[in-house]
Amino acid sequence: QVSDTLAKEGPSSPSYDWFQTDSLVTIVIYTKQKDINLDSVIVDHQDDSFRAETIIKDYSYIIHMGLSHEIQEDFSVRVVENVGKIEIVLKKKENTSWKRLGHPLENHNLLIPKKDTGLYYRKCQLISKEGVTHDTKLFCLMLPPSTHLQVPVGQHVYLKLTITGTEIVKPYTPVSDFLLSEFKEPVLLNNKYIYFLIKIYPAGLFTPELDHLHIGDFVSVSNPEGNFKISQFQELEDLFLLAAGTGFTPMVKILNYALTNIPGLRKVKLMFFNKTEDDIIWRSQLEKLAFKDKRFDIEFVLSAPTSEWNGKRGYISPALLSQFLKRSLDNSRVLICICGPTPFTEQGIRLLHDLNFSKDEIHSFTA
Ligand code: FAD
Ligand code: NAD
Repeated sequence: QVSDTLAKEGPSSPSYDWFQTDSLVTIVIYTKQKDINLDSVIVDHQDDSFRAETIIKDYSYIIHMGLSHEIQEDFSVRVVENVGKIEIVLKKKENTSWKRLGHPLENHNLLIPKKDTGLYYRKCQLISKEGVTHDTKLFCLMLPPSTHLQVPVGQHVYLKLTITGTEIVKPYTPVSDFLLSEFKEPVLLNNKYIYFLIKIYPAGLFTPELDHLHIGDFVSVSNPEGNFKISQFQELEDLFLLAAGTGFTPMVKILNYALTNIPGLRKVKLMFFNKTEDDIIWRSQLEKLAFKDKRFDIEFVLSAPTSEWNGKRGYISPALLSQFLKRSLDNSRVLICICGPTPFTEQGIRLLHDLNFSKDEIHSFTA
């Protein structure tokens, strides 16, 4: 069913099959790819439609059906990485034999460019909301039991609310709670929760509405997007993170991933730009991490400090960067990630080019 042009340009087309026992229906997706994992597939069962989107490079392979019989709310997803196989095990509501899986819905059994799939949403419940700084809060949303979704490192999702009859959508980057974990009981069902650090702008369109939600209210959450790739960490030795304000959010998962999963990593340095001390997100947690893990260093830079501030001051500048971006070895493999207000990021990229860092050594997070 894949058009010739797509098949020629993109990866070879996946296929699917299904089988059943008395109580279970298993859908198997053969991706024909080896680098897939549990982040690669997003599964939803809502409003009588079953949808599984498998991300293969810049393409999506979609199974989208109205199932022929009812199923229970929860299901399991398994990936057999070495053969590129995904198994989704559904539980039948009644132990009857299904003659067919269901009828096809939009885009079913197609491999289409990811940019053409449109945003797909599911409603998530607000579980908690905690103040982090005077204007930034940690929101915890819970995915429905009938969704499997994991947001990959470096990617964001869109949150959607209906505000006075109009749907408003804004992008947010989930964080992990690893910086908080020593203060909290480990949570079960970890993959069901998505955490966001969000700054509330009193005159903003979206964030005041989000802030007014009550525990138990619903927010729609889209599939993940973004062009950061884990492969950018390959054989990395030095990782430099330049974050301003809530531009810190993509750095949280990056930091966690880098410190746990990059074997040859020697140094991770975060330069965190804020207006004042009160604006610094998770300051003491970052300081504790730097104390605990000798590979990690943190430097705070304030653009509007009080006179008591002894640390670095100002906006991003050649002087700050040239001093900070020291390779641990002359030829070490580096990656610099940068995120913050657009003028900060643009200025930062210009300065990094001036300091002779190549395009491949810089990743900027933008819309
Ligand atoms: P807006 O209505 O956009 O207003 C923001 C501020 O600008 C307010 O103070 C408002 O008064 C002022 N303003 C609006 N319009 C004007 C104007 N014309 N002139 C002057 N001032 C104006 N934010 C986070 O907090 N956490 C995240 O994890 C996060 N992730 C992001 C990921 C991506 C990929 C991107 C692109 C952005 C991300 N953001 C994040 C920012 C987020 O998407 C919103 O832009 C932010 O929450 C503001 O939304 P708002 O509707 O409340 O405010
Ligand atoms: P803020 O106003 O508190 O500023 C934080 C710091 O940014 C300042 O202290 C300063 O050092 C720097 N800065 C601000 N304006 C600057 C300028 N004109 N030139 C140079 N440096 C400047 O920041 P905030 O309110 O927390 O905003 C964070 C921004 O990050 C938002 O614009 C948000 O959209 C963006 N963001 C983007 C992503 C993404 O693209 N993936 C993710 C999260 C946040």
